[in-house]
Amino acid sequence: MAADTKDYLMPDVLVLGAGITGVATAYFLARAGLDVAVLERRAAPALETTYANGGQISVSHAEPWAHPGAPEQVFRWLAQKDSPLYFSPRFDWRQWLWLTSWLWQCRRSAADRNTLEIVKIALRSRALYRQIREAEKIEYAQKSLGILHFYRNPVEFENARRVAELMSENGCRRKPVTREEIDFLEPALAQNRDIIGGTYTEDDESGDARRFTQALSRICQQKYRVRFHFGVTLDGFVSENNEIYEAQITAADGSKDLLRARHFVLCLGPWSPFFAQKLDIFLNIYPAKGYSISVPLDQANARYAPRVSLTDDENKLVFSNLETHLRVAGTAELAGWDRSLHYHRIRPIVEKAAELFPCLFSNMDFRNPDWVFANLHPWTGLRPATPSNVPYVGRRPEFRNLWLNTGHGTLGWTMGMATAERVAEMIRGEIPARMAA
Ligand SMILES: Cc1cc2nc3c(=O)[nH]c(=O)nc-3n(C[C@H](O)[C@H](O)[C@H](O)COP(=O)(O)OP(=O)(O)OC[C@H]3O[C@@H](n4cnc5c(N)ncnc54)[C@H](O)[C@@H]3O)c2cc1C
Repeated sequence: MAADTKDYLMPDVLVLGAGITGVATAYFLARAGLDVAVLERRAAPALETTYANGGQISVSHAEPWAHPGAPEQVFRWLAQKDSPLYFSPRFDWRQWLWLTSWLWQCRRSAADRNTLEIVKIALRSRALYRQIREAEKIEYAQKSLGILHFYRNPVEFENARRVAELMSENGCRRKPVTREEIDFLEPALAQNRDIIGGTYTEDDESGDARRFTQALSRICQQKYRVRFHFGVTLDGFVSENNEIYEAQITAADGSKDLLRARHFVLCLGPWSPFFAQKLDIFLNIYPAKGYSISVPLDQANARYAPRVSLTDDENKLVFSNLETHLRVAGTAELAGWDRSLHYHRIRPIVEKAAELFPCLFSNMDFRNPDWVFANLHPWTGLRPATPSNVPYVGRRPEFRNLWLNTGHGTLGWTMGMATAERVAEMIRGEIPARMAA
């Protein structure tokens, strides 16, 4: 729906951004009877970070990147050619501040606290996906076959067992599995004899985040009368004292306008810090650029693809079977807000996937870059990462009507429903407004 003057009727809540976090926030607010509008610069929802992510709804992935073993691992990776982590130093204070805070979050006490907070959010979120897909009849290639993490390195496996224990004590049933159990759970991994064990979380799920978000936005529009303003870019705010009055916007035709609302919710993913900064608010969110490929599945090759969603923790790769294709995602590149796609980053993902599933790739010209670009749909997205991977959810002390639901990092698809529910409850006054700082 294009924006026109009629659409700019003042809503109770204006949600800024239509990725998973924005659309889910609009849904919970509108379902409770509030008048809601959503502002999105793209022509449709879920065309940025939510577009082609790893597809995992993974409570079992709650351990953040910042943990005690991480700094040493990062140094090893920096020296490795096909490393899953790339760091490009910039003259940008945001990058250095983020890295310093990230190191601080690597302490055992911080890592365990962050893991437990993420487990709590993710457990609630996973339950909400089940409820909402049934209530609203949403299809998104969802699979409820669990998530299997697998390991080749005994030290990594031992650490995973420790984390699995911590998670299990806190409601996420992640249990260690032997090599033989892996063969039974996912026969597609049978040829990989260097895998020594894993952990399996049978309640975890996977599905296509773009399909879900776009379907939920249609439900928001048709059933709950949410007004979506696509092709409209947020430029800034008009504020006074501790209140925001209007959003300054540019419509698709270049015309400038002001959009009034009682409440504003910031769900701009990796772009959130720029708009917070316009209000003199600092958000420690830095983009961790990731890559994905989508390997087409047909009648001939689908039997060689894994059915259970997988995590190769050592290579930081995830695999989700989305029925028509196998999504493979990974890599973290700390290099600013640039989204350009580099073949030398895609190549290790393709090669590692082909190594794991040789039969699936046997008839594919996967070493040929032209073929890869034409057939495997390479993509990049910017994870809106906080140093702790815990998102900002709640109200800012500076403004009584500015709410945050942003900074979901590696797990926005996993945590997005619960944080949206939480912020909607705070706006409606059902639970105390927590300060998001
Ligand atoms: C490679 C990769 C793999 C991943 N795998 C997983 C996974 O398996 N499981 C998981 O849970 N998470 C995963 N994630 C993370 C997850 O995708 C993100 O955390 C999540 O999509 C973030 O959603 P969001 O709504 O915050 O941001 P986005 O989806 O980026 O939405 C923000 C929206 O704001 C809009 N916007 C920005 N600026 C403006 C403006 N000025 N005016 C108007 N609109 C604006 C954008 O156009 C965009 O639509 C992965 C991410 C990547 C990159």
